[in-house]
Amino acid sequence: MSTPEMLHPELLAPDDTHGILRDGHRLDHAEGASKPLRSRPEPQPPGAKVHGSRPIDQAEAAARFIDAPEHEKMHDERLWDLRQKRDREMHGIAEWEELRSLASAIKEHTLTRLDRYLEQFEANAQSNGINVHWARDAAEHNRLIHGILSDHGAKSLIKSKSMLTEECGFRPYMASVGIDVIETDLGERIQQLDNEDPSHIVVPAVHKLRTDVAEVFAKKIGTDPANSDVHYLAEAQRDATRPLILKADAGMTGCNFAVAETGTFVVCTNEGNADLSANVPKLHIASIGIEKIIPRLEHLAVFVRLLSRSALGSPVTQYTSHFRGPRAGGEMHIVLVDNGRSERLGLEEFWTSLKCIRCGACMNTCPVYRRSGGLSYGATYSGPIGLIIDPTFNQRKYSNLPFASTLNGSCTNVCPVKINIHEQIYAWRRVLVERHETPLAKRAEMKVAGELLSRPAAYRAAVAAADVALAHLPRFVIYNGLNAWGRHRDVPHPPKQTFHSWYQANRGGKQ
Ligand code: SF4
Repeated sequence: MSTPEMLHPELLAPDDTHGILRDGHRLDHAEGASKPLRSRPEPQPPGAKVHGSRPIDQAEAAARFIDAPEHEKMHDERLWDLRQKRDREMHGIAEWEELRSLASAIKEHTLTRLDRYLEQFEANAQSNGINVHWARDAAEHNRLIHGILSDHGAKSLIKSKSMLTEECGFRPYMASVGIDVIETDLGERIQQLDNEDPSHIVVPAVHKLRTDVAEVFAKKIGTDPANSDVHYLAEAQRDATRPLILKADAGMTGCNFAVAETGTFVVCTNEGNADLSANVPKLHIASIGIEKIIPRLEHLAVFVRLLSRSALGSPVTQYTSHFRGPRAGGEMHIVLVDNGRSERLGLEEFWTSLKCIRCGACMNTCPVYRRSGGLSYGATYSGPIGLIIDPTFNQRKYSNLPFASTLNGSCTNVCPVKINIHEQIYAWRRVLVERHETPLAKRAEMKVAGELLSRPAAYRAAVAAADVALAHLPRFVIYNGLNAWGRHRDVPHPPKQTFHSWYQANRGGKQ
């Protein structure tokens, strides 16, 4: 699903009257005139350093994001605004919890009979005139699509946003075989031009200030670097991309839901770009993760009511496009992709993560994600859902990610398909420790902590020693590189009396 970029209120000019309706209310999407550009905009902080399968240091990249206060504040507030809008929509629907339970039940039912529904979908799609292919993994997905494009002599492809294609490394692969891929979603196009991954599954460029976008567009499509007015930038991008869309040889979309009983699939967007990608060229290819199947068309209503409300706090996406078969004179292909999903389905503690409908609500509510930015995770999927999915791709590389959570459970509370996200994050911590995938230093620290906490006398002696140290030691001894907790905050002053000694003095011996 895609969305137009939301403008942070801080960026609006105070006397802006654009988009004001006769009754004085502002159109929700109206962004109005912009403040003049500061002479030196804050540069965008880079994301996580990625070196092969070396563990991603999310905390290090997050620290860099936090050190860029304009970015951090804007990101936090933009996403919190989405969370609040989601809450307002939720309160407007009396049967919200019933919808969540239904969505969860439909997904669990389907996932436990996935083979049957996939075969039904394939048969019905074929009878609608669609060519259906199966891809075991990312490499097969990319090869298959390259084959289809080669068969048609296609050299350029327009595509709408699809996290599955990100997961498959589709764009770099296509570049390596000489096929030009043009993203048609605005946020995704910004990220493509900046040679960056999406930082959010719904709003891919949400971590960028408009000054960042102005800089990228100035370099890549020749806009005025001093003009960061969002209308100007959006229009310039439209002008630059539209000719590429009109002459593309093939179009590609992802899929939000694939309906087994009809062999049709549905794509939800806010920009209408999926419809352009699917309908302008004669060849339409859709990449579909096998978990996207739902049994019947009537089930779609449950998910459509939940998706956009959870994602952006809007009642519905601007476009909910149903694709049934190739248009007259055209050709349609579907690639059903596994890429680790069958294996995840067999993981007792993690299989329900396949219920995810990629709404991003868990990211918008997560205090860690909001303050560290999606690129700090160094993975296709960031935020709470990413902490569960990423280790299924590479346990070593993503071994630090499940620790980037406060486990406050807010993600679980907002998830429209009731995935027990924080419990799965906690379960991953246990699994990774058991498999020795956590850093040696962390394991040693946990061992010492375990010993201390299991010996009451030693624990009390350590607490007393720490109190004395905090009160008397010079600051640099406590706040140094070894004290990760104290890097961004002060250790609180210890109370004069510990709870244990107070209890002994006041309630000693009583239960
Ligand atoms: S885990 Fe739930 S809240 Fe998070 S993106 Fe998936 S469906 Fe949305």
